[in-house]
Amino acid sequence: MQIPDTVRTLMNTLERAGFETWAVGGCIRDSLLGLVPHDWDLCTAAAPQDMLQVFSGRQLITAGIRHGTVGVITDGGTVEITAFRTERGYADHRHPDSVQFVRRIEDDLCRRDFTVNAMAYAPAHGLLDLFGGRDDLRRGMIRCVGCAPVRFQEDALRILRGLRFAARYGFRVDADTAAAMHACAGSLSAVSVQRLFTELCGIVTAPSAGRTLAGYCDVLSVILPQLDTGNWHSKCAALDTAVQELPVRLALLFPDADSARAGLRLLGAPGSILKTVPDALQAASTQKPADKPGARRLISRLGRETAHICAELLRLRSVGGHAAALIDTVLESEQCFTVTDLAISGSDLLTLGFSGPAVGQALHALLALVMDEKTPNTRDALLRAAAGLSSDSGRTV
Ligand code: ATP
Ligand code: MG
Repeated sequence: MQIPDTVRTLMNTLERAGFETWAVGGCIRDSLLGLVPHDWDLCTAAAPQDMLQVFSGRQLITAGIRHGTVGVITDGGTVEITAFRTERGYADHRHPDSVQFVRRIEDDLCRRDFTVNAMAYAPAHGLLDLFGGRDDLRRGMIRCVGCAPVRFQEDALRILRGLRFAARYGFRVDADTAAAMHACAGSLSAVSVQRLFTELCGIVTAPSAGRTLAGYCDVLSVILPQLDTGNWHSKCAALDTAVQELPVRLALLFPDADSARAGLRLLGAPGSILKTVPDALQAASTQKPADKPGARRLISRLGRETAHICAELLRLRSVGGHAAALIDTVLESEQCFTVTDLAISGSDLLTLGFSGPAVGQALHALLALVMDEKTPNTRDALLRAAAGLSSDSGRTV
Protein backbone atom coordinates (compact mmCIF):
# COMPACT_ATOMS: atom_id res chain seq x y z
CA MET A 1 0.00 0.00 0.00
CA GLN A 2 1.72 3.18 -1.22
CA ILE A 3 0.42 5.72 1.28
CA PRO A 4 1.80 9.18 0.39
CA ASP A 5 4.19 10.65 2.99
CA THR A 6 1.90 13.59 3.77
CA VAL A 7 -0.96 11.19 4.59
CA ARG A 8 1.29 8.85 6.58
CA THR A 9 2.49 11.82 8.66
CA LEU A 10 -1.11 12.67 9.62
CA MET A 11 -1.77 9.03 10.55
CA ASN A 12 1.36 8.94 12.71
CA THR A 13 0.44 12.19 14.45
CA LEU A 14 -2.99 10.85 15.44
CA GLU A 15 -1.59 7.44 16.45
CA ARG A 16 1.06 9.10 18.64
CA ALA A 17 -1.71 11.10 20.33
CA GLY A 18 -3.37 7.77 21.16
CA PHE A 19 -5.99 7.62 18.40
CA GLU A 20 -6.20 4.58 16.14
CA THR A 21 -6.25 5.84 12.52
CA TRP A 22 -6.87 4.06 9.21
CA ALA A 23 -6.92 4.83 5.51
CA VAL A 24 -10.33 3.76 4.29
CA GLY A 25 -12.70 3.39 1.34
CA GLY A 26 -11.84 4.25 -2.25
CA CYS A 27 -8.09 4.62 -1.68
CA ILE A 28 -7.83 1.05 -0.38
CA ARG A 29 -10.06 -0.29 -3.17
CA ASP A 30 -8.04 1.46 -5.87
CA SER A 31 -4.67 0.51 -4.35
CA LEU A 32 -5.65 -3.17 -4.28
CA LEU A 33 -6.74 -2.85 -7.92
CA GLY A 34 -3.27 -1.54 -8.76
CA LEU A 35 -4.59 1.94 -9.51
CA VAL A 36 -3.31 5.22 -8.09
CA PRO A 37 -5.98 6.57 -5.69
CA HIS A 38 -7.10 10.12 -6.50
CA ASP A 39 -7.36 10.93 -2.81
CA TRP A 40 -6.79 9.34 0.57
CA ASP A 41 -9.55 9.40 3.18
CA LEU A 42 -8.68 8.66 6.78
CA CYS A 43 -10.89 7.58 9.66
CA THR A 44 -9.91 7.78 13.27
CA ALA A 45 -10.91 7.04 16.85
CA ALA A 46 -10.34 10.74 17.59
CA ALA A 47 -13.54 12.74 18.05
CA PRO A 48 -13.80 15.95 16.03
CA GLN A 49 -12.73 18.06 19.03
CA ASP A 50 -9.70 15.79 19.56
CA MET A 51 -8.70 16.34 15.92
CA LEU A 52 -8.91 20.11 16.31
CA GLN A 53 -6.56 19.84 19.29
CA VAL A 54 -4.11 17.41 17.67
CA PHE A 55 -3.89 19.55 14.52
CA SER A 56 -4.18 22.92 16.24
CA GLY A 57 -1.03 24.20 14.48
CA ARG A 58 -2.32 23.37 10.99
CA GLN A 59 -4.66 24.88 8.48
CA LEU A 60 -7.98 23.03 8.74
CA ILE A 61 -11.30 22.92 6.93
CA THR A 62 -14.07 22.42 9.47
CA ALA A 63 -17.19 22.73 7.29
CA GLY A 64 -18.00 19.02 7.82
CA ILE A 65 -17.23 18.90 11.51
CA ARG A 66 -20.82 18.19 12.57
CA HIS A 67 -20.58 14.92 10.66
CA GLY A 68 -17.15 14.25 12.12
CA THR A 69 -15.00 15.34 9.19
CA VAL A 70 -12.01 17.65 9.42
CA GLY A 71 -9.97 18.52 6.32
CA VAL A 72 -6.25 18.98 6.89
CA ILE A 73 -4.47 21.03 4.25
CA THR A 74 -1.14 19.48 3.25
CA ASP A 75 1.40 20.00 0.46
CA GLY A 76 -0.32 17.14 -1.36
CA GLY A 77 -3.82 18.67 -1.10
CA THR A 78 -6.56 18.38 1.51
CA VAL A 79 -6.84 15.10 3.42
CA GLU A 80 -10.25 14.40 4.94
CA ILE A 81 -10.20 12.73 8.32
CA THR A 82 -13.51 11.48 9.73
CA ALA A 83 -14.17 10.30 13.24
CA PHE A 84 -15.39 6.66 13.43
CA ARG A 85 -19.13 6.97 13.28
CA THR A 86 -22.38 5.15 12.77
CA GLU A 87 -25.55 6.53 11.26
CA ARG A 88 -29.16 6.14 12.32
CA GLY A 89 -32.53 6.68 10.68
CA TYR A 90 -32.86 7.60 6.99
CA ALA A 91 -36.37 9.03 6.85
CA ASP A 92 -35.70 10.77 3.52
CA HIS A 93 -33.96 7.78 1.80
CA ARG A 94 -30.78 9.78 1.58
CA HIS A 95 -29.47 11.41 4.78
CA PRO A 96 -29.03 9.83 8.18
CA ASP A 97 -31.24 11.50 10.78
CA SER A 98 -28.31 11.44 13.20
CA VAL A 99 -24.69 10.31 13.41
CA GLN A 100 -22.98 8.93 16.50
CA PHE A 101 -19.25 8.96 17.07
CA VAL A 102 -17.97 5.54 18.14
CA ARG A 103 -14.71 4.04 19.37
CA ARG A 104 -14.40 1.01 17.12
CA ILE A 105 -13.58 1.09 13.42
CA GLU A 106 -15.63 -2.09 12.94
CA ASP A 107 -18.81 -0.11 13.67
CA ASP A 108 -17.76 2.55 11.16
CA LEU A 109 -17.12 0.04 8.39
CA CYS A 110 -20.64 -1.40 8.78
CA ARG A 111 -22.23 1.86 7.55
CA ARG A 112 -20.27 1.86 4.28
CA ASP A 113 -22.04 0.98 1.07
CA PHE A 114 -20.19 -1.83 -0.73
CA THR A 115 -17.75 -4.49 0.42
CA VAL A 116 -15.07 -3.14 -1.93
CA ASN A 117 -15.51 0.31 -0.31
CA ALA A 118 -15.50 -0.96 3.27
CA MET A 119 -11.87 -1.98 3.69
CA ALA A 120 -9.37 -0.11 5.84
CA TYR A 121 -5.61 -0.24 6.07
CA ALA A 122 -3.11 1.10 8.57
CA PRO A 123 0.64 0.42 8.55
CA ALA A 124 0.41 -0.50 12.23
CA HIS A 125 -2.55 -2.87 11.83
CA GLY A 126 -2.54 -4.17 8.24
CA LEU A 127 -5.64 -4.68 6.10
CA LEU A 128 -9.03 -4.81 7.79
CA ASP A 129 -11.55 -6.50 5.53
CA LEU A 130 -14.63 -7.52 7.49
CA PHE A 131 -16.99 -8.24 4.59
CA GLY A 132 -14.90 -10.02 1.96
CA GLY A 133 -14.15 -6.90 -0.04
CA ARG A 134 -10.83 -8.23 -1.27
CA ASP A 135 -12.46 -11.39 -2.63
CA ASP A 136 -15.13 -9.29 -4.30
CA LEU A 137 -12.40 -7.17 -5.91
CA ARG A 138 -10.73 -10.34 -7.22
CA ARG A 139 -14.05 -11.64 -8.56
CA GLY A 140 -15.06 -8.24 -9.91
CA MET A 141 -18.21 -7.98 -7.83
CA ILE A 142 -20.23 -5.09 -6.38
CA ARG A 143 -21.99 -6.30 -3.24
CA CYS A 144 -23.69 -4.39 -0.46
CA VAL A 145 -22.39 -4.44 3.07
CA GLY A 146 -25.25 -6.05 5.01
CA CYS A 147 -28.77 -6.48 3.74
CA ALA A 148 -29.05 -4.88 0.30
CA PRO A 149 -32.74 -3.79 0.41
CA VAL A 150 -32.17 -2.18 3.81
CA ARG A 151 -29.08 -0.36 2.58
CA PHE A 152 -30.87 1.00 -0.49
CA GLN A 153 -33.93 2.01 1.54
CA GLU A 154 -31.61 3.96 3.84
CA ASP A 155 -29.95 5.78 0.96
CA ALA A 156 -31.23 5.24 -2.56
CA LEU A 157 -28.27 7.07 -4.09
CA ARG A 158 -26.27 3.93 -3.30
CA ILE A 159 -28.08 2.22 -6.19
CA LEU A 160 -26.46 4.60 -8.66
CA ARG A 161 -23.14 4.53 -6.81
CA GLY A 162 -23.13 0.74 -7.18
CA LEU A 163 -23.82 0.98 -10.90
CA ARG A 164 -21.12 3.63 -11.22
CA PHE A 165 -18.48 1.41 -9.61
CA ALA A 166 -19.60 -1.56 -11.74
CA ALA A 167 -19.37 0.57 -14.90
CA ARG A 168 -16.02 2.06 -13.93
CA TYR A 169 -14.26 -1.23 -13.19
CA GLY A 170 -16.24 -3.55 -15.46
CA PHE A 171 -17.59 -5.42 -12.41
CA ARG A 172 -20.79 -7.43 -12.12
CA VAL A 173 -23.41 -6.73 -9.48
CA ASP A 174 -24.05 -9.51 -6.98
CA ALA A 175 -27.47 -11.17 -7.47
CA ASP A 176 -28.98 -10.06 -4.13
CA THR A 177 -27.65 -6.54 -4.56
CA ALA A 178 -28.98 -6.39 -8.13
CA ALA A 179 -32.42 -7.62 -7.06
CA ALA A 180 -32.54 -4.92 -4.38
CA MET A 181 -31.49 -2.25 -6.90
CA HIS A 182 -34.52 -3.12 -9.01
CA ALA A 183 -36.86 -3.40 -6.02
CA CYS A 184 -35.76 -0.10 -4.42
CA ALA A 185 -35.34 1.98 -7.60
CA GLY A 186 -38.55 3.92 -6.84
CA SER A 187 -36.83 5.56 -3.83
CA LEU A 188 -34.46 7.33 -6.21
CA SER A 189 -37.19 9.88 -6.81
CA ALA A 190 -36.52 11.13 -3.26
CA VAL A 191 -32.87 11.97 -4.04
CA SER A 192 -31.86 15.51 -5.07
CA VAL A 193 -31.53 15.97 -8.81
CA GLN A 194 -27.99 17.35 -8.46
CA ARG A 195 -26.81 14.11 -6.87
CA LEU A 196 -28.69 12.04 -9.43
CA PHE A 197 -27.18 13.98 -12.32
CA THR A 198 -23.65 13.70 -10.92
CA GLU A 199 -23.98 9.93 -10.54
CA LEU A 200 -25.58 9.58 -13.97
CA CYS A 201 -22.63 11.42 -15.51
CA GLY A 202 -20.22 9.13 -13.66
CA ILE A 203 -22.03 6.06 -14.94
CA VAL A 204 -22.44 7.01 -18.60
CA THR A 205 -18.84 8.17 -19.06
CA ALA A 206 -17.40 4.99 -17.51
CA PRO A 207 -15.71 2.42 -19.77
CA SER A 208 -18.33 -0.30 -19.15
CA ALA A 209 -21.39 1.98 -19.01
CA GLY A 210 -23.38 0.04 -21.62
CA ARG A 211 -22.54 -3.42 -20.31
CA THR A 212 -23.62 -2.31 -16.84
CA LEU A 213 -26.76 -0.42 -17.80
CA ALA A 214 -28.03 -3.19 -20.11
CA GLY A 215 -29.79 -4.81 -17.15
CA TYR A 216 -30.97 -1.60 -15.48
CA CYS A 217 -33.28 0.11 -17.93
CA ASP A 218 -35.97 0.12 -15.22
CA VAL A 219 -33.69 1.83 -12.68
CA LEU A 220 -32.59 4.51 -15.12
CA SER A 221 -36.18 5.13 -16.20
CA VAL A 222 -37.02 6.24 -12.66
CA ILE A 223 -34.65 9.18 -12.88
CA LEU A 224 -35.13 9.72 -16.63
CA PRO A 225 -38.67 8.96 -17.78
CA GLN A 226 -37.65 10.26 -21.23
CA LEU A 227 -35.14 7.44 -21.68
CA ASP A 228 -35.14 5.69 -25.06
CA THR A 229 -36.09 2.24 -23.80
CA GLY A 230 -36.88 0.75 -27.23
CA ASN A 231 -34.05 -1.46 -28.43
CA TRP A 232 -32.28 -0.90 -25.10
CA HIS A 233 -29.57 -3.50 -25.65
CA SER A 234 -28.36 -1.99 -28.90
CA LYS A 235 -28.43 1.44 -27.22
CA CYS A 236 -26.17 0.06 -24.52
CA ALA A 237 -23.84 -1.48 -27.08
CA ALA A 238 -23.58 1.95 -28.73
CA LEU A 239 -22.70 3.51 -25.34
CA ASP A 240 -19.63 1.32 -25.00
CA THR A 241 -18.59 1.97 -28.61
CA ALA A 242 -18.92 5.75 -28.34
CA VAL A 243 -16.15 8.11 -27.21
CA GLN A 244 -16.23 8.65 -23.45
CA GLU A 245 -17.28 12.29 -23.76
CA LEU A 246 -20.17 13.28 -21.50
CA PRO A 247 -22.42 15.07 -24.05
CA VAL A 248 -22.11 12.22 -26.55
CA ARG A 249 -22.85 9.56 -23.94
CA LEU A 250 -25.80 11.54 -22.58
CA ALA A 251 -27.23 12.12 -26.05
CA LEU A 252 -27.27 8.37 -26.66
CA LEU A 253 -29.78 7.87 -23.86
CA PHE A 254 -32.55 9.79 -25.59
CA PRO A 255 -34.70 9.09 -28.64
CA ASP A 256 -34.73 12.70 -29.85
CA ALA A 257 -33.86 16.31 -29.09
CA ASP A 258 -37.11 17.15 -27.28
CA SER A 259 -36.84 14.20 -24.87
CA ALA A 260 -33.20 15.08 -24.21
CA ARG A 261 -34.10 18.68 -23.41
CA ALA A 262 -36.92 17.63 -21.08
CA GLY A 263 -34.91 14.88 -19.35
CA LEU A 264 -31.78 16.95 -18.86
CA ARG A 265 -33.78 19.93 -17.61
CA LEU A 266 -35.53 17.67 -15.10
CA LEU A 267 -32.14 16.61 -13.75
CA GLY A 268 -30.90 20.21 -13.49
CA ALA A 269 -28.15 19.73 -16.08
CA PRO A 270 -25.92 22.78 -16.64
CA GLY A 271 -26.78 25.21 -19.43
CA SER A 272 -24.01 24.08 -21.78
CA ILE A 273 -25.24 20.47 -21.71
CA LEU A 274 -28.87 21.60 -22.02
CA LYS A 275 -27.96 23.31 -25.28
CA THR A 276 -25.33 21.11 -26.93
CA VAL A 277 -26.95 17.71 -26.38
CA PRO A 278 -30.39 18.49 -27.90
CA ASP A 279 -28.83 20.59 -30.69
CA ALA A 280 -26.46 17.77 -31.64
CA LEU A 281 -29.27 15.18 -31.56
CA GLN A 282 -31.47 17.40 -33.71
CA ALA A 283 -28.73 17.98 -36.26
CA ALA A 284 -27.71 14.32 -36.37
CA SER A 285 -31.26 13.31 -37.26
CA THR A 286 -32.05 16.04 -39.76
CA GLN A 287 -28.86 17.39 -41.31
CA LYS A 288 -26.37 14.94 -42.71
CA PRO A 289 -23.79 16.90 -44.72
CA ALA A 290 -23.04 15.37 -48.13
CA ASP A 291 -19.96 17.41 -48.96
CA LYS A 292 -17.42 19.76 -47.40
CA PRO A 293 -19.44 22.96 -47.91
CA GLY A 294 -22.36 21.20 -46.22
CA ALA A 295 -20.12 20.22 -43.30
CA ARG A 296 -18.87 23.83 -43.03
CA ARG A 297 -22.40 25.16 -42.94
CA LEU A 298 -23.33 22.65 -40.23
CA ILE A 299 -20.32 23.67 -38.11
CA SER A 300 -21.09 27.34 -38.73
CA ARG A 301 -24.66 26.86 -37.51
CA LEU A 302 -23.97 24.58 -34.53
CA GLY A 303 -20.58 25.79 -33.34
CA ARG A 304 -17.48 23.58 -33.24
CA GLU A 305 -18.32 21.70 -30.04
CA THR A 306 -21.87 20.74 -30.94
CA ALA A 307 -20.77 19.83 -34.46
CA HIS A 308 -18.18 17.47 -32.98
CA ILE A 309 -20.86 15.80 -30.81
CA CYS A 310 -23.11 15.56 -33.86
CA ALA A 311 -20.30 13.84 -35.80
CA GLU A 312 -19.82 11.31 -33.00
CA LEU A 313 -23.56 10.54 -33.00
CA LEU A 314 -23.60 10.15 -36.79
CA ARG A 315 -20.58 7.83 -36.64
CA LEU A 316 -22.55 5.40 -34.46
CA ARG A 317 -25.31 5.10 -37.09
CA SER A 318 -24.89 2.69 -39.94
CA VAL A 319 -25.43 5.38 -42.59
CA GLY A 320 -23.67 8.25 -40.82
CA GLY A 321 -20.00 7.35 -41.25
CA HIS A 322 -19.37 9.45 -44.36
CA ALA A 323 -21.04 12.57 -42.93
CA ALA A 324 -19.14 12.13 -39.64
CA ALA A 325 -15.83 11.87 -41.50
CA LEU A 326 -16.61 15.04 -43.47
CA ILE A 327 -17.34 17.01 -40.29
CA ASP A 328 -14.18 15.68 -38.62
CA THR A 329 -12.01 16.55 -41.60
CA VAL A 330 -13.34 20.08 -41.82
CA LEU A 331 -13.07 20.58 -38.03
CA GLU A 332 -9.45 19.38 -38.08
CA SER A 333 -8.23 21.24 -41.13
CA GLU A 334 -10.16 24.51 -41.20
CA GLN A 335 -10.69 27.50 -38.94
CA CYS A 336 -13.26 29.74 -40.61
CA PHE A 337 -16.85 29.05 -39.55
CA THR A 338 -18.19 32.36 -38.29
CA VAL A 339 -17.80 36.00 -39.29
CA THR A 340 -15.41 36.52 -36.37
CA ASP A 341 -13.09 33.90 -37.96
CA LEU A 342 -12.78 36.00 -41.14
CA ALA A 343 -9.41 37.61 -41.86
CA ILE A 344 -11.10 41.03 -42.00
CA SER A 345 -13.50 42.72 -39.62
CA GLY A 346 -16.38 45.15 -39.67
CA SER A 347 -14.02 48.11 -39.26
CA ASP A 348 -12.27 47.15 -42.53
CA LEU A 349 -15.65 47.30 -44.23
CA LEU A 350 -16.41 50.69 -42.65
CA THR A 351 -13.13 51.93 -44.16
CA LEU A 352 -14.27 50.59 -47.51
CA GLY A 353 -17.43 52.66 -47.15
CA PHE A 354 -19.99 50.14 -45.87
CA SER A 355 -22.28 51.36 -43.12
CA GLY A 356 -25.19 50.29 -40.93
CA PRO A 357 -26.71 46.84 -41.51
CA ALA A 358 -24.73 46.55 -44.75
CA VAL A 359 -21.61 45.80 -42.69
CA GLY A 360 -23.10 42.67 -41.16
CA GLN A 361 -24.67 41.59 -44.44
CA ALA A 362 -21.35 41.96 -46.22
CA LEU A 363 -19.51 39.96 -43.55
CA HIS A 364 -22.03 37.13 -43.91
CA ALA A 365 -21.76 37.27 -47.69
CA LEU A 366 -17.96 37.03 -47.38
CA LEU A 367 -18.26 34.11 -44.96
CA ALA A 368 -20.47 32.30 -47.48
CA LEU A 369 -17.85 32.90 -50.19
CA VAL A 370 -15.10 31.47 -47.97
CA MET A 371 -17.17 28.46 -46.93
CA ASP A 372 -18.06 27.72 -50.55
CA GLU A 373 -14.34 27.96 -51.42
CA LYS A 374 -14.94 30.87 -53.78
CA THR A 375 -12.56 33.12 -51.85
CA PRO A 376 -9.59 32.21 -49.63
CA ASN A 377 -9.77 33.55 -46.07
CA THR A 378 -6.98 36.09 -46.52
CA ARG A 379 -7.13 39.81 -45.92
CA ASP A 380 -6.30 40.81 -49.51
CA ALA A 381 -8.73 38.37 -51.09
CA LEU A 382 -11.54 39.42 -48.76
CA LEU A 383 -10.95 43.14 -49.34
CA ARG A 384 -11.10 42.51 -53.09
CA ALA A 385 -14.25 40.42 -52.69
CA ALA A 386 -15.83 43.10 -50.48
CA ALA A 387 -15.19 45.71 -53.13
CA GLY A 388 -17.02 43.45 -55.58
CA LEU A 389 -20.01 43.25 -53.23
CA SER A 390 -20.35 47.01 -53.08
CA SER A 391 -22.81 47.48 -55.90
CA ASP A 392 -25.53 45.38 -54.30
CA SER A 393 -24.69 45.75 -50.59
CA GLY A 394 -25.97 49.18 -49.79
CA ARG A 395 -22.57 50.84 -49.73
CA THR A 396 -23.19 54.45 -48.94
CA VAL A 397 -20.08 56.00 -50.44
P1 ATP B 1 -14.46 7.71 -5.73
O1 ATP B 1 -13.27 7.13 -6.39
O2 ATP B 1 -15.63 7.83 -6.64
O3 ATP B 1 -14.20 8.95 -4.92
P2 ATP B 1 -14.93 6.58 -3.14
O4 ATP B 1 -15.12 5.16 -2.71
O5 ATP B 1 -13.77 7.32 -2.57
O6 ATP B 1 -14.92 6.57 -4.71
P3 ATP B 1 -16.58 8.62 -1.99
O7 ATP B 1 -17.90 9.12 -2.44
O8 ATP B 1 -15.41 9.54 -2.04
O9 ATP B 1 -16.29 7.31 -2.83
O10 ATP B 1 -16.79 8.09 -0.52
C1 ATP B 1 -15.74 7.60 0.30
C2 ATP B 1 -16.20 6.38 1.07
O11 ATP B 1 -17.29 6.72 1.90
C3 ATP B 1 -16.69 5.24 0.20
O12 ATP B 1 -15.63 4.40 -0.22
C4 ATP B 1 -17.65 4.52 1.14
O13 ATP B 1 -16.94 3.71 2.04
C5 ATP B 1 -18.25 5.66 1.93
N1 ATP B 1 -19.48 6.18 1.32
C6 ATP B 1 -19.62 7.24 0.48
N2 ATP B 1 -20.88 7.46 0.14
C7 ATP B 1 -21.61 6.53 0.81
C8 ATP B 1 -23.00 6.25 0.89
N3 ATP B 1 -23.89 6.96 0.20
N4 ATP B 1 -23.37 5.22 1.68
C9 ATP B 1 -22.47 4.51 2.37
N5 ATP B 1 -21.15 4.71 2.33
C10 ATP B 1 -20.71 5.71 1.56
MG1 MG C 1 -13.44 9.45 -2.88
